[in-house]
Amino acid sequence: MTSSSERVALVTGGSRGIGRAIVEALAGRGHRVWFCGRSADGVRTAEASLARAGAATVRGRACDVRDFKQVAALVAEIETTDGRLDVLVNNAGLGHFAPVDEMEPERFREVIEVNLLGPFHGVRAAAPLMKRGGGGWIFNISSLAAKNAFAGGAAYNASKFGLVGMSEAAMLDLRHDGIRMAAICPGSVATEMRTTLRAEPQDWMLRPEDIARVITDLLDFPERALPSLIEIRPSRPPKK
Ligand code: NAP
Repeated sequence: MTSSSERVALVTGGSRGIGRAIVEALAGRGHRVWFCGRSADGVRTAEASLARAGAATVRGRACDVRDFKQVAALVAEIETTDGRLDVLVNNAGLGHFAPVDEMEPERFREVIEVNLLGPFHGVRAAAPLMKRGGGGWIFNISSLAAKNAFAGGAAYNASKFGLVGMSEAAMLDLRHDGIRMAAICPGSVATEMRTTLRAEPQDWMLRPEDIARVITDLLDFPERALPSLIEIRPSRPPKK
């Protein structure tokens, strides 16, 4: 593993929300950061505003995590350009919510493909490069929806429960190669995903920077220690 000031990182879904805060936090610490989103416009806009904010070492690419070829091509470009990959944040995600007997099968499939298959694609593409570089860190952004099922959440709950399972098994496969892996399970975070879900006050919620902080803190953790499953929730949610 290289010294902390020299890390190369890839954040999926980095054009807004939690991913964008992670990109900013990593770039702010001097790391070379790559990020992706599906929308080329969204990626370009985020890249330009990050550059205006002084994040010179940030590169955005349009890449759909549902497509392994696109993810592998992005990881290959990172290897060609920067020679290695030290940190992968599998953050890209979405939610479709409906009673299970009304959920369109294509919507269910999309949630599983983005939230579960996407992180597998990231791990599958990045792990060989990390192994060659002597190790790294992979963070999988799951959710407290990985343990708390809710009505209308069949697709989202299944994807996030599944992601924790994938993360824990993959961690056992890869830790002997110096690759540490953690599933991070946030509660409510004030982002666009949350506002499209329902209109509500957001002042009690976690902020995207709180999730970014978990990642930057874990990067500073002693190498012998592997916190592999982290829950983070608002301290003072509204009382039910
Ligand atoms: P968000 O604001 O909607 O941002 C989602 C990001 O993912 C965007 O950059 C989006 O860009 C990208 N994305 C979506 N589908 C993609 C795909 N197929 N390929 C590549 N990029 C894709 O969401 P967020 O609230 O920040 O959530 C980020 C992660 O945190 C998700 O995994 C979510 O499940 C998890 N999470 C969120 C909360 C919360 O309360 N907000 C709580 C717990 C966990 P494009 O649209 O351009 O693709």
